Amino acid sequence: MKVMTSEEKDRAYVWHPFTPQLPLKSNINITRGEGVYLIDDKENKYLDAISSWWVNLHGHCNSYIAQKISEQLKQLEHSIFSDFTHPSAILLAERLLKHLPVNQSKIFYSDNGSTAVEVALKMALQFWHNQEQTKTVFIAFENAYHGDTFGSMSVGARNVFSNAFEALLFDVQHIPLPTDKNINEVKDQLISILKKGNVAGFIFEPLVQGASGMRMYETSYLDELIAICNKHKVITIADEVMTGFGRTGKFFASDYLLNKPDIFCLSKGLTGGFMPLGVTSCAGFIHQAYLSTDKAKTFFHGHSYTANATACSAALASLDLMEKEQTWLQIKMIEKAHLMFKEKICVSPKLKNVRVKGTIIAFELKTEEHSHYLNAASQSISSYFLEKGIILRPLGNIFYLIPPYVIKESELKIIYDSIESFLK
Ligand SMILES: *Cc1c(COP(=O)(O)O)cnc(C)c1O
Repeated sequence: MKVMTSEEKDRAYVWHPFTPQLPLKSNINITRGEGVYLIDDKENKYLDAISSWWVNLHGHCNSYIAQKISEQLKQLEHSIFSDFTHPSAILLAERLLKHLPVNQSKIFYSDNGSTAVEVALKMALQFWHNQEQTKTVFIAFENAYHGDTFGSMSVGARNVFSNAFEALLFDVQHIPLPTDKNINEVKDQLISILKKGNVAGFIFEPLVQGASGMRMYETSYLDELIAICNKHKVITIADEVMTGFGRTGKFFASDYLLNKPDIFCLSKGLTGGFMPLGVTSCAGFIHQAYLSTDKAKTFFHGHSYTANATACSAALASLDLMEKEQTWLQIKMIEKAHLMFKEKICVSPKLKNVRVKGTIIAFELKTEEHSHYLNAASQSISSYFLEKGIILRPLGNIFYLIPPYVIKESELKIIYDSIESFLK
């Protein structure tokens, strides 16, 4: 009998995310990780310029994090989290609250970014419900991405990703992302929605909308929108799943804001990209609505793997590294390098909207087609860079880099140079 290769088995048995099933392409079989590199079964090395879907901060197989996880594994791998607790979850909650804005007071654990958002939405809804108030409408930005579960999809943009599920998504009021031109209209639109009195919360990706193409917007405009929500006593939810943990140049994107959001959603970089873990934190006044001996006011939400001890230990180790000065020097170095590269390429007639925020740089290739995810440019760009040993997965015609913080200046230069030769 013929023995199947790994490639054949992958094709036969595995269904990959966001992957058309016809024609079925072969996947690169990654067998090792080393710092900013992923290495496949043929010993090809790829520079991971997008931190493996934006999760990796300190490099693949970072030995410090690996060591801490291994120590945790010998102590406790996982335990039930209702009626029980464990030291890593307690310590992580304490340490996260030290980094979050001072208005944050409780940490609720789940296991990925979508569930962190799902928890935030349910927490906000029940906050009103527990006070016998009917507020069930959410406001979100156009082109938002908050995850792939039903609640997080509902608050996200409606597009080819959500078409098949549209009938079952709940109604959400989407407002445009604020720009110099439309800020007054956006404010007016927000106020007129809030005046109806049935709004539970406003959810947003602070400063940078990730999945819709690294769209960046002004801190001051978000501050104004949050101030309006505060005036109308509407809960504000910062989805920092992508922007958290230094990505935008500060610990959290919300650190740039004067008005602090009431709820935070964290995941991706939370564990340095080692383990799935989600966190939803909330301000004291939100938790207060649950302080009741009436059992019906309990927050009935939980996942089997809530506060998984192994994941918590990865997050604690990643926090240790985030608290090192060296990490922040690297973040500054990346931002500076991005800004210099921006100066260089922004004159290219083939590009538009070159933008930088912290460790993120993005720009758009001028193409005939409309810029969206299914844009044909994206596939050929990915292949071009893979051949050069660089992992870049453009969102449609939008290029972006979001590298691990351990990347060297010389490695950034390799990526920049290859982008320039691509443009030629
Ligand atoms: C990736 C992402 C999510 C979803 O996180 P998953 O872990 O993929 O479920 C939610 N919000 C934002 C802003 C994201 O970038």
